[in-house]
Amino acid sequence: MLLGALEAGGTKMVCALGNEKGEIFERESFPTREPEPTMRDIIAYFSGRGIEALGVSCFGPLDLNENSPTFGNITTTPKPGWQNVPMRAMLMDALGVPVGIDTDVNGAALGEALLGAGRGCESLVYYTVGTGVGGGAYYHGMLQHGLVHPEMGHMVMRPHPDDPAPHGFCPYHDGCLEGMACGKAIEQRWGVSARELPPDHIAWKIEAEYLAQMCVNTIVMLSPEKIVLGGGVMHQEQLFPLVRVRTQEILGGYVAHPAILENIDRYIVPPALGNNSGAVGSLLLAVRALG
Ligand code: ZN
Repeated sequence: MLLGALEAGGTKMVCALGNEKGEIFERESFPTREPEPTMRDIIAYFSGRGIEALGVSCFGPLDLNENSPTFGNITTTPKPGWQNVPMRAMLMDALGVPVGIDTDVNGAALGEALLGAGRGCESLVYYTVGTGVGGGAYYHGMLQHGLVHPEMGHMVMRPHPDDPAPHGFCPYHDGCLEGMACGKAIEQRWGVSARELPPDHIAWKIEAEYLAQMCVNTIVMLSPEKIVLGGGVMHQEQLFPLVRVRTQEILGGYVAHPAILENIDRYIVPPALGNNSGAVGSLLLAVRALG
């Protein structure tokens, strides 16, 4: 079965062809500009290729209420020009195939849950820590939505005592996860890009503190069987051991499960699909759109 996958990001649009097993045959990316030329590129890529359905993992916020007249629209994004763009409807009208849509992080969570680090698990939370921070949750076949969809990147943090910027940099919130821990926050806090900070710089200890608080909040709120940490900042491999140890310390033995007490190396993990979590997840959203 030939399926289309679209990872719709704030800086680039990655289009791919693949199948229901998550195999990717080819891909192409376009810079995200104004909606009109960007959507034209995407539609041109998928037109006439014979895809049976398209899955879209999209930056948000999105309307994911299937009963809403604006289901599948981007809603209040700060990205200029993209407010209220009917992403799903435009693609369905132009391509004439079913279109499944979810948040970028829910798409990646689905990919990792079914075909990546979460194989054999019924529940998984995926975080991306990069330009921003976002989280998606998979639970027994479902991706978590509710009132809207989770905005895990904006959970409130307790500042590290040595943090020179204890309020963070989110324009909406004092001390939220994204404002404290995204790549841009690291850069604003230390005045150099994250890549230029040596592995033993205190920046990483502070970063690990926030990511550990994120893991602890996730464990006590959702109790997933696996936490996957992806995104550009997580390419700093020194973070994983720091985050795991600090997660155990903050939990203080309260969640007494061997996955956390003994096997945390296999509990808080990088994505098994590498940079393909979102593309594979989008293919699976396409499968789901076929019903
Ligand atoms: Zn925030």
